[in-house]
Amino acid sequence: MSSAGNFFTSKLDDAIGWARKFSIFQYPFVTACCGMEYMSTAAAHYDVDRFGAGFPRFSPRQADVLFVVGTISHKLAPVLKTVYDQMCEPKWVIAFGVCTCTGGFYDNYATVQGIDTIIPVDIYIPGCPPRPENVIDGLMKLQEKIQKNEQSRALYDPCSKIGRPDGIQGKCSTEGKIKHIEPAK
Ligand code: SF4
Repeated sequence: MSSAGNFFTSKLDDAIGWARKFSIFQYPFVTACCGMEYMSTAAAHYDVDRFGAGFPRFSPRQADVLFVVGTISHKLAPVLKTVYDQMCEPKWVIAFGVCTCTGGFYDNYATVQGIDTIIPVDIYIPGCPPRPENVIDGLMKLQEKIQKNEQSRALYDPCSKIGRPDGIQGKCSTEGKIKHIEPAK
């Protein structure tokens, strides 16, 4: 492609990235107590409409950012995977709270030890629960990824400890048994 063509397509990508990052259609997958903090973040005081993210959609086919909020049990994991699979590309995932990041203090047989063992995660927001300021920080970091059209594709392997950013601690209690979960029928 000519340099003029490259210039045009790179500017077009910038414009599309800019439009996308300010028109986030989030799907809130809320299961537990972090939902209270999610609701307070969505309230007028924090005004996430500033980031174009104030309009949740309750159909995965109309959403491009999956907010996973709260503890995910192994029983619920196939449902989460199905919701993710039903979202159209491009799509991004936010792990909201330490339970979604690593399982948190629920180190037991019933709880998924981090949703990144099931679906790829773009932004981890630790905390039990995270404060709204942390959530907004995560949202701004997600906007940077959207602008650059970057998406995570890798899953976390709990035994080799590959696929999760430094600072998000992993556990090996699941021994990799939840790496490949089929969508719910
Ligand atoms: S991180 Fe804390 S507040 Fe959030 S779902 Fe887990 S236990 Fe509840």
